[in-house]
Amino acid sequence: MSVRVRFAPSNTGTLHMGGARTALFNYLYAKNKGGTFILRIEDTDRERSKEEYTESIVEALDWLGMEPDEGPILQTSRLGMYNERIEKLLEEGHAYRCYCTPEELEEQREKALAEGRKPKYSRKWRDRTDYPEDQPYTVRIKMPLEGTITIDDMVQGEVTVDVDQLDDFIIMRSDGTPTYNFVVVVDDADMDVTHVIRGDDHLNNTFRQVPVYRALGLEPPTFGHLPLISGLSKRKGSAAVQDYRDRGFLSEAVVNYISRLGWSHGDQEIFTREELVEYFGFDSVGKSPSNFDEDKLKWVNTEWLKKLEASDLAQRLLPFLKKLDLDVELDDRLVQIADLMRDRGDTLVEIAEKSTYFFTDQFDYDEKAVKKWMKPVSEPAIKEIIESLEGLDEWSADSIGTIYREVGKKHEVGLAKLAQPTRISLTGSTSSPSVFDLVASFPREEALRRLRKGAELFGDDE
Ligand code: GLU
Repeated sequence: MSVRVRFAPSNTGTLHMGGARTALFNYLYAKNKGGTFILRIEDTDRERSKEEYTESIVEALDWLGMEPDEGPILQTSRLGMYNERIEKLLEEGHAYRCYCTPEELEEQREKALAEGRKPKYSRKWRDRTDYPEDQPYTVRIKMPLEGTITIDDMVQGEVTVDVDQLDDFIIMRSDGTPTYNFVVVVDDADMDVTHVIRGDDHLNNTFRQVPVYRALGLEPPTFGHLPLISGLSKRKGSAAVQDYRDRGFLSEAVVNYISRLGWSHGDQEIFTREELVEYFGFDSVGKSPSNFDEDKLKWVNTEWLKKLEASDLAQRLLPFLKKLDLDVELDDRLVQIADLMRDRGDTLVEIAEKSTYFFTDQFDYDEKAVKKWMKPVSEPAIKEIIESLEGLDEWSADSIGTIYREVGKKHEVGLAKLAQPTRISLTGSTSSPSVFDLVASFPREEALRRLRKGAELFGDDE
């Protein structure tokens, strides 16, 4: 039987890192087994469900490279399906109408609490058929009255619950709408879901869902309940996947990082998509909660920034440079610059911010650096370098380097005394990539213009 898994977010908000991790483990399991990854949107909360959130979830999955094989399937498109099953359960005696009023239920609850008991529905209507006419009712499922329910969870192992912990819970509200613990079973069964992989906050629900499968004459699927992720503070946790995209994280890095929240493969930290698919399995998913650590995510991002092809990196950097209002396009120069700058920031945003001087000369000179390096001892050599660069045959880092070395030797000036004034002239400060690469990354005329302008800064020796 081929594996079919589903990711089933409700569209009451954007996709967060916790949800993305659940989606990823579903996705990886499906791909590892050659199975099917389904996206189902649980959109039955009439007040809070919004189409824009569905779009946002789809967009986030798309950015992370987890396009569903089936879906998005909207739960609201299946509403008729649920009523049919409820009727069937009523007919077969697996469910019953409950005419208790909300006040009556509240009274029972308070009484139980006052007596120090766990509130539980009295099962008053479980075996009755003397239904009052024209009264609102809910439909409740008949839970088994004795015994235990055991699931063999792919993550948690065997978990057993005594059925006396479980209530005859409502499967249809008095307004006719079905409830989550019922609907999820019908959906998963209809979609032939073989493995239900979700957060362990749903473990309690599973023990309510298993009897629903049985009542419907179905075999429950295999379950895998993933431990929580701690460290997702309200602020960080409420951040949508797209916020990380907009902050300049690479999707490969996000996928790589969240794959390790609960799963491991030896001590390997950096994984390509292909490796994740190949290595993923539940035997190496742990039970203990994992911690969301943004510094680690940044580190993974820097590793991925090193790995990308320069042309790919340039393409991804482009929108961030444009956001800074820079006049830039995707060309060989940008590819060259991306390659030079890839290790000069943790995110695309930082790299873009540090790359502005390539595209604009509207920068201030760092005063301290000017004072330290723009000294007369360097001036004649820099002026000769400018002249030599004007006539240079081949505008390349290598031949530019040859000129610097020859002129430096002739004037008996060390390379730093030439490199730093050059950096200041071209970028405003002394922090930049290798100086010959830097000079070569500008069109010759622009490099010369900046060098000449910078040369006006040469001051007196102290
Ligand atoms: N809509 C539920 C949630 O977002 C789905 C739970 C499940 O996977 O069954 O938590």
